[in-house]
Amino acid sequence: MSENLDNATKIRELAVRHNKLFRDSIPLIASENLMSPLAMEMLLTDFGFRYAEGLPHKRYYQGNEVVDELEELVIELAKKLFNVPQSDPRPISGTVANMGVIYGLTSPGDLISVPSLSGGGHISAAQFGAVGFRGLVTENYPFDPQTMTIDPDGAAKLIKEKKPKVALFGQSVFLFPAPLKELADAFSEAKCKVWYDAAHVIGLIAGGRFQDPLHEGAHVMSGSTHKTLPGPQHGLVLGNTDEETWKSIQRGIFPGTISNHHLNTMAALGVSLAEHMEFGRKYASDIIENAQTMAQELHNLGIKVLAESRGFTQSHTLVANTKTEGGGKRVAETLERCGIILNKNMLPEDDSRKSQNPSGIRIGTQEVTRIGMGKSEMKEIASLIYRSIVKNEDPAVIKKEAKALKDMFTEVKYCFGKLKAYEYIKVFQER
Ligand SMILES: *Cc1c(COP(=O)(O)O)cnc(C)c1O
Repeated sequence: MSENLDNATKIRELAVRHNKLFRDSIPLIASENLMSPLAMEMLLTDFGFRYAEGLPHKRYYQGNEVVDELEELVIELAKKLFNVPQSDPRPISGTVANMGVIYGLTSPGDLISVPSLSGGGHISAAQFGAVGFRGLVTENYPFDPQTMTIDPDGAAKLIKEKKPKVALFGQSVFLFPAPLKELADAFSEAKCKVWYDAAHVIGLIAGGRFQDPLHEGAHVMSGSTHKTLPGPQHGLVLGNTDEETWKSIQRGIFPGTISNHHLNTMAALGVSLAEHMEFGRKYASDIIENAQTMAQELHNLGIKVLAESRGFTQSHTLVANTKTEGGGKRVAETLERCGIILNKNMLPEDDSRKSQNPSGIRIGTQEVTRIGMGKSEMKEIASLIYRSIVKNEDPAVIKKEAKALKDMFTEVKYCFGKLKAYEYIKVFQER
């Protein structure tokens, strides 16, 4: 009995400790973000404990009267934000959204063209990930490390020759828009479905600051809702396609890959979509400006940021080659000791067997932007990184400075209401 209580208490203590870890650190992981107070609140509602299988007004259980209204509103908000005719907010993560699309558009044995892992592709588009488990055959687009984009001529040739059932675009290292317009002829010659995985950049797209895939030839777009879109850990699928294809994708989502969806996170997503309509344009601009500023500053300090000829990035992400600083693993671990949290990352030149010790690091500016940091803070962070990994200064000294900088930025911005980030349990206790 008391051991069980001890363990329950211990878990709570871990949560407090984890919150503090992130409150005191500079968060630069490109796939993470912070939710707004109104969205946060939705996670602690009764929506979190109910079932609502199926679509609004076509459910299998009673008690869904309010959920139906909620889901219809979230569907409408998503359609409006992306200016598209179809949306499905049920997938419970980006990968589950991808699986729904894969189930809806393909059968085992079909060919799908995908970004390569070394070109920044996601595991769900790899043979050992979701597309492989669906039994799909994959072909990688050629990737140009100079421009850090899929090579449009090579991709056109591949699509015309191999005629994949589906052509997938979108990466986890996604610095520049995918060449959708350039490939329009290839798509129509192959008669393939075009699927865009916007997991990383969906918030930038919604803010009108990246490309607009569903108006540039893509039929369907999937995404995570917790990366540049600062919502809950959840997924979303949007469509601009014929009714039959869309129905098939919706069957891929339910019953293909989920039974119940998570209603509290769907409600939080709805809040996040509404807030993005209000604040998303400015937020997306600030994120990108911050990424470009940090890239330029790191470059000025002698760190090898990729894609210099193209201005380093047009998204929230930048990538640096840190081979001369000891490699991605050493650099990421050193920075962690300095209170700067980011991840090691494969570079196009890396052999896939090096995934545990790749040459690069990846940096995302969406979370530091979310708490109100601007250009001068980006320069300060770049300087801390430089002093740590090039000058090998004492991590304890850097950590203190990183915390002092972070202490000035703890409030979640670009949303309605006020919330001190990283202190949720305290907020909960005080209520
Ligand atoms: C993050 C990511 C996903 C998966 O998202 P989860 O929400 O983590 O399941 C899918 N595709 C790409 C390109 C990603 O970067």
